[in-house]
Amino acid sequence: MKFGTLLIHNGHDTDPATGALGTPIYQTSTFDRSPQFAPSGLPALPALPAGRLDYDYARSGNPTRKALEDAVSLLEGGTAGFAFSSGIAAIAAVLGIFSTGDHIITAEDIYGGSYRLLNTYFKRWGLEHTALSEVTPDTIRAALRPSTKALFIETPSNPLLKITDIRASCAAAREAGLITIVDNTFMTPLLQRPLELGADVVAHSATKFLGGHSDVLAGIVVTKSSELGKRVYAVQNGLGATLGPWDCFLVLRGIKTLKARLEAQQKTAARLADFLSGHKNVATVYYPGLAAPHQKAVHDGQAEGPGAVLSFKTKTDEQALSFLGRTRLAAPAVSLGGVETIASYPIKMSHAAIPPLERERLGISASLIRISAGLEDADDLIEDFDAALS
Ligand SMILES: *Cc1c(COP(=O)(O)O)cnc(C)c1O
Repeated sequence: MKFGTLLIHNGHDTDPATGALGTPIYQTSTFDRSPQFAPSGLPALPALPAGRLDYDYARSGNPTRKALEDAVSLLEGGTAGFAFSSGIAAIAAVLGIFSTGDHIITAEDIYGGSYRLLNTYFKRWGLEHTALSEVTPDTIRAALRPSTKALFIETPSNPLLKITDIRASCAAAREAGLITIVDNTFMTPLLQRPLELGADVVAHSATKFLGGHSDVLAGIVVTKSSELGKRVYAVQNGLGATLGPWDCFLVLRGIKTLKARLEAQQKTAARLADFLSGHKNVATVYYPGLAAPHQKAVHDGQAEGPGAVLSFKTKTDEQALSFLGRTRLAAPAVSLGGVETIASYPIKMSHAAIPPLERERLGISASLIRISAGLEDADDLIEDFDAALS
C-alpha cells in the first residue's frame, strides 16, 4: 500500500470487538487476570477472546497505546514502537539504554531540550558526548573513542535546517559498531524514513506534526531490531514515562490526517520561503527547498519534500522583535507542526537553554525566527508577514 493509505489502514482501523472505526480509549490502569487463575479440574471454560491476557498493568502496556505504537512502527518501517509522555521523554529513554562511561556522538545543531538533557542530566549520569559542527563520515571517525556507542542526529536540524546525509552517516557509524538514532520530528515518516536509510532507532516529538493540532504532548521511539526494542522497552517500563490512553488516541487521530495536513503546510512553507527570500528586511532564509546545492541534493536524496518548517534572519534584531509583535496570524509561541502558523523565537524559547556565546557561535542570533507553516491560506499569511516586516 502507498503511504497515504497506510496512514488510515495501519492494522488498527477497526475495533475487533465492536467494529468501531475510532480506536477505543482504554482508560484503565489495570486488567483482570482471573482466567490465569481458573481452577483446574472444572468443566472446560469457553475459549478466551484473542488478546484477553495480553495486558496486566498499564505502565507495561495498554491497548490504546499499543495501537499507536504499532501504527508508528509500521509507518517508520520498524519492528517495535514505544509511546512516551513527551518527545524529550522518548529521547531520554533512548539515551537511557546506554551506561555510565559510554560516549555518544551528536550534532551541535540539535533541539535545545536534547542539548540540555545531554549537558545536564546525562552528563551528571556519566554519559559522555561529542557535539560535531558538521556530521560527515570523516568527522564521525575523528570523534570515535573506544567507548563510543551511538550517533544521534537530527536532519533537517533545529533551528537552522542544516542537512545531514543519513545514509553516509549511518554507514560510517555502522562500520564503527555504533547505533544510529535519528530525531525525525521535522520530517515525519511521510517525508523521510531513516530506518530505510540505515538508521537503527527513530525518535519523535509526536507533539508536533504527528499529533498535529497543538493539543497533546507525546513522544515516540521506533527501533529497527527487536533486540534494541527490548532495551528501549526496559527503560519505558522501568522509568514509566508512558503516554496515557487519551493522549494516544489524540495522536492516532492526528496521524489519519498527516498527509493532508503536511502536504498543504509544505506548499505554504515553500511560498513563505520564496516570499521571505525576496523581502528587503530579510537577510537569510533557511529552508531545505532553498538550501545550497550540495545540501539540497542530499536532502532530496533522502526525503520526499522540504517540509513545513523554515527559519529566517531579519537584517536587524529590532526587525525580528517587531515582526513578532506585529504579526496577526502567526502565533509567537514555542512548538511547531500544528494547524496554526507559529513563529518561534529560538533565543528566548527552544534554544534558551544554550549559553549565549555558544548560541552566537551556532548562528542562533537575536534576528532569527523559526516559522512552522499552518493551514491558513498562504495569501493571507504572505500579506500578514509583509505588513509585520515592513
Ligand atoms: C519539540 C521537539 C522535541 C521535544 O519534544 P517534546 O514533545 O516537546 O518533549 C525533540 N526534538 C525536536 C526536533 C523537537 O522539535
